[in-house]
Amino acid sequence: MPRLCLILFGPPGSGKGTQAKLLRQSLGIAHISTGDMLRERVASGDGLGQEAASIMQSGGLVPDEMVNRMVEDRIEQPDCEKGFILDGFPRTVSQARLLAELLKSKGINPLVMHLKVDYNVIVSRLSGRRQCPTCGALYSVTSNAPTVSEVCDYDGSKLVIRDDDRPEVVRERLRAYERQTEPVLEFLKGAGYAFGEVEGADASPQVIAGRIETWIRGQKGTQEEAGQGR
Ligand code: AMP
Repeated sequence: MPRLCLILFGPPGSGKGTQAKLLRQSLGIAHISTGDMLRERVASGDGLGQEAASIMQSGGLVPDEMVNRMVEDRIEQPDCEKGFILDGFPRTVSQARLLAELLKSKGINPLVMHLKVDYNVIVSRLSGRRQCPTCGALYSVTSNAPTVSEVCDYDGSKLVIRDDDRPEVVRERLRAYERQTEPVLEFLKGAGYAFGEVEGADASPQVIAGRIETWIRGQKGTQEEAGQGR
């Protein structure tokens, strides 16, 4: 059976990370977040991490070769055997081309889910976002607050504001999205992959994840039927 690859596509703050964390549990597949991987590299302090750190702090995108290499290695890991969710990748047309080749060579036909969120909602979401430095759980002070203010529900750690969620960096990240990432949407639509869209802000994260899962199950059925017909 082909491995499931779900590409979660959307602007910063559209809920990709939150959805990926919910879906990886319900679907039992791996979660690949290039942002998390890069933050780990930065924390480890190696040369690559240092190069990435200044770019990330300014809100720009790190070079394609660096991210492409990371993703190529990551999807070979054993936990990706059943399938994987891509969160924050591809973010440029060049990354999308590489991914298309990679998946084709593995016989994987990805599903693309576009999380649509209004620009003003994104800005207010990013400025109210909090993250647990220990387990990575994401919260929003307005729409998905922890039970105790500023404290992680899962491990009690004090929540932090990511450096790149500061207003001036948020503006630059959204500019990078418009210039470099939005064109990827047309590429993915044109690639003939199953393509779905959900409103990313009109319900709780759990309800939105449920909608995405229902859509995925429908697509998987279609893909498996197509596979049997070959
Ligand atoms: P994220 O956590 O997905 O919002 O990513 C945080 C930052 O990491 C971005 O603002 C970029 O600087 C960098 N980054 C993450 N994924 C990519 C990617 N696919 N290509 C280039 N830069 C990335």
